[in-house]
Amino acid sequence: MKLVGEKNFYKILGVTETASKEDIKKSYRKLAKKYHPDSNRDNPHIAERFKEISEAYSVLSDPEKKKQYDAVRAWGGGGYRDFAQYQPPDGMGGGTPFGDLGDISEMFRSFFSFDDHGTRRKKPEQGKDIHLEIEIPFEQALKGGKRSIAVPVEDVCRTCKGSGSKPGSKVQKCSHCGGRGSVSFNQGAFAVKKPCSYCYGRGTVIATPCPDCRGSGITNRVKKIAVEIPKGVAGGTTVRVKGQGRKSSKGGYPGDIYITCRVGEHPFFQRNGLNVQTEVPINIAQAAFGTKVQVKTVHGKTVQLNLPAGTNSGKRMKLKGQGLTKDEKTGDHIIVVQVLTPQISDAKQKELLETFAREKGFSW
Ligand SMILES: [Zn+2]
Ligand SMILES: [Zn+2]
Repeated sequence: MKLVGEKNFYKILGVTETASKEDIKKSYRKLAKKYHPDSNRDNPHIAERFKEISEAYSVLSDPEKKKQYDAVRAWGGGGYRDFAQYQPPDGMGGGTPFGDLGDISEMFRSFFSFDDHGTRRKKPEQGKDIHLEIEIPFEQALKGGKRSIAVPVEDVCRTCKGSGSKPGSKVQKCSHCGGRGSVSFNQGAFAVKKPCSYCYGRGTVIATPCPDCRGSGITNRVKKIAVEIPKGVAGGTTVRVKGQGRKSSKGGYPGDIYITCRVGEHPFFQRNGLNVQTEVPINIAQAAFGTKVQVKTVHGKTVQLNLPAGTNSGKRMKLKGQGLTKDEKTGDHIIVVQVLTPQISDAKQKELLETFAREKGFSW
């Protein structure tokens, strides 16, 4: 976004930007006399020049108008690139650097929320977030720790250095803006340049696309990042890795990566929150006579349990504090006894069990 030179009121009056009020007045008087239409009747261009001089003086002689004009010039002179990067500080009304400077700023206000694609912008555009899902082995979920994760990333194409054009191919001038990268239009007293929306201000368009990125200027690769898996992580937990997502093309912050953890199954251990559960199968003799069983905890410890005579299937025992730890809370290890019913495989076994059952008064 740039102001165009012919509306430079200082230049029109032939004074410097630091000229005093007196100097401006002196210069105006001199020029007004010289270019007055009454004394130049045979030259129609003079009238135009005189109008310009009067306009310039009406602005520069008025301290309030001059202030506005200087502000607009200072801003417009920065070029649209800077302009596109401009982020109004929080609490600044209207998103312009002028505050309430009145008419001129009002006139330009509409431009300040345009980026170089011509769309309205309010905030710096943040890079996109990346969402990934990973499976964490059961044991790693217990202990937590670092885990290397492959993340797809976009890079500037090395072949074309991001231009999108095949190296060595001819660059074509943008026909829309004639290669200038900007188009002009009038806004009130000012002619304003705006970036060309066809070539995004580049002034050139791609004739032969780069074969490696197909003209996008971007290639994809995989980057490895180390992620800290929290100790005791439960399935469905999402871990955020800040600032490792996609880069912002508009000067904003990069996005984040959100990693959703699935926790793998374990052949023996089941998880229930911070508690761990295991089933301990015993045979009917162990159940009837009582037995000692050894149970492994998730922490690798072996614990011996005494099952009394007459232990029933479904009996639960608790190993306190042998579950998972998370946020200073620790779960328990629950042991569930499962009594296995024997399969009768011959006539002798059948006879023995029948004898026992009759003795006990069981019916079947
Ligand atoms: Zn390329
Ligand atoms: Zn263009």
